[in-house]
Amino acid sequence: NKRLVCIPGPTPVARCIQDQMARETVAFGDPDFVRDYKQLIEDLKSIFDCDGEAFPLAGTGTLAMEMAIANNTKSGDNVLIVSHGYFGDRFIDLCERKGLHVDIIGCEWGTVVSPAEIEKKLSEKEYSAITVTHVDTATGVAAPIKEIGDVVKKFENTIFIVDGVCATAAEEEYMGDMGIDVLLTGSQKAFGVAPGLFLVMASKKSLERRASLGTIPEFYCDYEKWLPVMENPAKYFATPAINLIWAMKESVEMIKREGVQNRYDRHKKNARAMQAAVESLGLKVLAEKEHRAVTLSNIIYMDGVDDAQFRNILMEEGIIVAGGLAAYAGKMFRLGHMGNIDTHDMVSTVATIERALHRVGKHDDMGKAVGVLMSELMK
Ligand code: PMP
Repeated sequence: NKRLVCIPGPTPVARCIQDQMARETVAFGDPDFVRDYKQLIEDLKSIFDCDGEAFPLAGTGTLAMEMAIANNTKSGDNVLIVSHGYFGDRFIDLCERKGLHVDIIGCEWGTVVSPAEIEKKLSEKEYSAITVTHVDTATGVAAPIKEIGDVVKKFENTIFIVDGVCATAAEEEYMGDMGIDVLLTGSQKAFGVAPGLFLVMASKKSLERRASLGTIPEFYCDYEKWLPVMENPAKYFATPAINLIWAMKESVEMIKREGVQNRYDRHKKNARAMQAAVESLGLKVLAEKEHRAVTLSNIIYMDGVDDAQFRNILMEEGIIVAGGLAAYAGKMFRLGHMGNIDTHDMVSTVATIERALHRVGKHDDMGKAVGVLMSELMK
């Protein structure tokens, strides 16, 4: 039977995007490819309101995190890490290895750090950068990026780095308006492309920071190595992932057809419908209501459900979800609902969750959550 991939990335890849990966691979200097790569870069800058440069390159989200830190800090600098969970914490080791002094503001999983707390911390000493994970995939919480951006704007020597791996192309992100200096993501989440490409978008301020640093220790992910290529993709620094670039371009064409704000609104509506549907079954969403992500839901089991058994049944019934992380391992499942999924996918997903809960003896009123989902979607 069909297995719908409902983990929070990789997400289902639309046929037209897959077709781009199946194309005959050309030389990186091929004029058609050079034109397409340039078009992709320009479109990304325009969609995300980036006044600097967009770098869509081979690698994953973690390398994008590394590129953001590499080009905006130097050994000995202070970095403020705002962590809402597992992926926020990933910046700690990454920064410490580079010899940065790290301060961390965390919070209970499912809640957010307040912008006021961030402002207080930023006032205490000079930070060359602050990192915030827009949606921490471990908790399903969305950080208030615009409000945090308004705070960071007051500190002109601080670069605002946003990890959008589980957010970009689904949660609202306008770099200029929100004061974001570096926005980074991977191809396999809300863009709905296969894994293997990352995207770093750097503001003018971030490019200036890089220019002030002289030679940096990193080579592959140095902005300065890639700037001439982004300007003119006929130039060579390291071989671009040609078919993935085409796939990403197709994803961006889909975003342009949909309209980016419509895409954000669609994600919001879908997420609220999904969350209402699972809650109607007696399951709990970890994130506080006002801070829930639109890209995924982290759903806590009712007492007496065995995680491994439940997720196996879900797989037999046709959907794959992810397990909980750290303290939530065995206690929750994580359900992605981002990218190019449609109403068919969502109705099937909720119906499958109902069947699986029934098979573990926790649900009888079949169709209840599907009903809630449908009425929310029809609003
Ligand atoms: N940040 C966040 C918020 C993520 O969800 C992930 C991946 N789940 C990463 C960073 C790391 O990305 P990748 O696995 O593509 O290296």
